[in-house]
Amino acid sequence: MALPYLELVLGFMILMYIFETYLDMRQHRALKLPRLPRPLEGLVSQDKFERSRAYSLDKSNFHFVHEAITILMDTAILYYGLLPWFWMKSEEFVTRVGLNPENEIIHTLSFLAGVMIWSQITDLPFSLYSTFVIEARHGFNKQTILLFIRDMIKGIFLSIILGPPIVAAIIYIVQIGGPYLAIYLWGFMFVLAIVMMTLYPVLIAPLFNKFTPLPDGELRQKIENLAASLMFPLKKLFVVDGSTRSSHSNAYMYGFFKNKRIVLYDTLIQQCTNEEEIVAVIAHELGHWKLNHTLYSFVAVQILTFLQFGGYALVRNSKDLYQSFGFDTQPVIIGLIIFQHTIIPLQHLVGFGMNLVSRAFEFQADAFAKKLGYSTSLRAALVKLQEENLSAMNTDPWYSAYHYSHPPLVERLSALEDSDSKKED
Ligand code: ZN
Repeated sequence: MALPYLELVLGFMILMYIFETYLDMRQHRALKLPRLPRPLEGLVSQDKFERSRAYSLDKSNFHFVHEAITILMDTAILYYGLLPWFWMKSEEFVTRVGLNPENEIIHTLSFLAGVMIWSQITDLPFSLYSTFVIEARHGFNKQTILLFIRDMIKGIFLSIILGPPIVAAIIYIVQIGGPYLAIYLWGFMFVLAIVMMTLYPVLIAPLFNKFTPLPDGELRQKIENLAASLMFPLKKLFVVDGSTRSSHSNAYMYGFFKNKRIVLYDTLIQQCTNEEEIVAVIAHELGHWKLNHTLYSFVAVQILTFLQFGGYALVRNSKDLYQSFGFDTQPVIIGLIIFQHTIIPLQHLVGFGMNLVSRAFEFQADAFAKKLGYSTSLRAALVKLQEENLSAMNTDPWYSAYHYSHPPLVERLSALEDSDSKKED
């Protein structure tokens, strides 16, 4: 007898929803606490705390509504067989415009175009509300509706240009795949990732933001000295105009081998009054590089991608799987979508594991900056960024263990202090 795949997938989706909503409720309760966690008393002002609390609670309420609607829509789409219906409709569309519906690539592109239109429409009210109501209410949104629409159109254009060749290549690979299918698919995705990592900063990111070299001065000198002392091959040092969209702040680095770039958000520079604090944030980022964190994460993602394709290659010819989702044929894209759904529980488990590792990496990068003598400035910077971003001050331990890629501020500060006291002993 065939396994009831569809029912199992729906069951898991609903169980995950219940579990994650329970975590959300725990976090919501933590966010409601009227007082700062003890270690932050005196570090964070009462005014900032009140504002971060209001912001977090607003986002939390919105999240409950968004998640509830998403689970209702997703289960309805699967349960009522909207996927096969939509697949059939897209075949009709291909025929009507005079193209060959027997061509799986054309049929798939028509199907995906429909999916994209659907998801743009259903996402729109949520992203509008989040940007122009929640972010605006708490003073973060710097975006005009015009800029918002322009970003959206640019994003759609990008997927129209990049999507079809990638989809066509994947379908072609599956069609010729044979016993080494997983290796071919992984190889393709690997090359694609390298190409995107090369092109993204040069071609795509500049479509949305302006990158200008950090002007000469004390800050630039300090960052260059730090990079040189660690033998970090810093090729370019940019400031990005994050402030045109939002007053959230950040810093990151990218680039291969001997060709590294650091990008500072202009908001970060505005918010850190003391240059040492910005340098401390960079020292933390350089810690990720020195300790090979970026490489480890990249390798982990590659292994996971390979395993996923391996799993897909195993089940892609299972008639039962397709039939249980309402398909008599076995189109490649449908196989991939169904497979994605069947491994949801595993994906959540892996996500939890990745967060665990990521938090360990954050502690290590903090310790690295501390070893370079930035403990005090890094602590100050972390508190300031937490304040300026109005990040949640009180967090539920279960929620943060499951969702957070970065440790809660209280934990990071205390780890930075711990290593202080060890040194004094
Ligand atoms: Zn980090």
